[in-house]
Amino acid sequence: MEERELFFRHLAQTTPTPLAFPVARAEGWKLFDTSGKSFLDLVSGISVANVGHKHPRVMEAIRAQLDRYLHVMVYGEFVESPQVRYARLLATQLPESLDTVFFTNSGSEAVEGGMKLAKRYTGRTEIIAFHNAYHGSTQGALSLIGNENWRRAYRPLLPGIRHLEYNSMEALDSITSSTACVVAETVQGEAGIIAGNEQWLQALRSRCDETGALLVLDEIQSGFGRTGKLWAFQHSGIQPDILLLGKALGGGLPLGAFISRGDIMHSLTENPPLGHITTFGGHPVCCAAGMAALEVLLDEKLVEEVKQKEQLFRELLVHPQIREIRSSGLWLAVEFSNSEESKQVIDKCLENGVFVDWFLFAPQCIRVSPPLTIDEASIRRSCDVMLKECDRLKSE
Ligand code: PMP
Repeated sequence: MEERELFFRHLAQTTPTPLAFPVARAEGWKLFDTSGKSFLDLVSGISVANVGHKHPRVMEAIRAQLDRYLHVMVYGEFVESPQVRYARLLATQLPESLDTVFFTNSGSEAVEGGMKLAKRYTGRTEIIAFHNAYHGSTQGALSLIGNENWRRAYRPLLPGIRHLEYNSMEALDSITSSTACVVAETVQGEAGIIAGNEQWLQALRSRCDETGALLVLDEIQSGFGRTGKLWAFQHSGIQPDILLLGKALGGGLPLGAFISRGDIMHSLTENPPLGHITTFGGHPVCCAAGMAALEVLLDEKLVEEVKQKEQLFRELLVHPQIREIRSSGLWLAVEFSNSEESKQVIDKCLENGVFVDWFLFAPQCIRVSPPLTIDEASIRRSCDVMLKECDRLKSE
């Protein structure tokens, strides 16, 4: 049987119409299929490959760690150099109060850890999240996501969770002294790039301070330079009590983290001890890869180029078929009238060597989130292809 058939026969399918792209190789901002054809990758594995696929320094760090050890013990017992060194590097790039890292395997697990930590530290049970938020697929993270289509099928979900309107000042009154934490994406990604506006994020921070609720910011997709700053919360000058990271954190390998202040994090240590356990979280190879990727991001000053590249996309992607573009750095939602149009453009772009995608809660929008390393010529070429497909829509 051909691999394509085996894919449909033996792999669990998450949609009725998977892309089934036969990937052979990936490098920088290019994907290669099994026939050798190359594609510009404007998705980055959903904001994972921020320093590009297979960056030589990341590959070297992986190889070096492979020669030392793989898994040796459950998380938190041994002094594993890749974990310690990466936690230290992260702390130097974060506000002083975010100095203690708990590594997980995925973004969803970071969300779960953050929710448990807030409940344990505050002794409260209510959690507030927002409409159109995406936080992951495990039961707890699913309970937080703000889209009824996804929640409905899996009830009962976690109790004590309320959803408020994102960017609404009035909604903030619903945060009270019963609230353990408010979980928010600093920029809502799957909603189609809706940035938390500066005043609102500041008011949210103040309301959490007034009520003693912890502010948990989900930067699993917005972190690591995607929005034009290393962390999206830097745009508004606020700081979370708990920061959730994932995706680009692992430099292409699976890694998540929830990060907080030492004394807050300590509430998972005792009574009972081992309040949060993971076998593989913070795998040494993943930490080595992630640390190398962050070093690349910093040494190559990639974040500084983001605004200019975002601007170029915005200047080029002008077409009567495009309704609106919302963007936060190299993270753009190109909006069409409906999801049939956006899907047609996505499919045709792939045929013509450009890989773009859609958003979970905004299928009428095309996702553009290339590796931050992408060069000007490739931005121009990918926009040419997209515009040509927009022309075709117009003529049909
Ligand atoms: N939060 C956000 C904002 C995300 O974008 C994602 C993944 N798309 C997650 C959480 C969940 O991460 P994972 O898929 O690694 O569990």
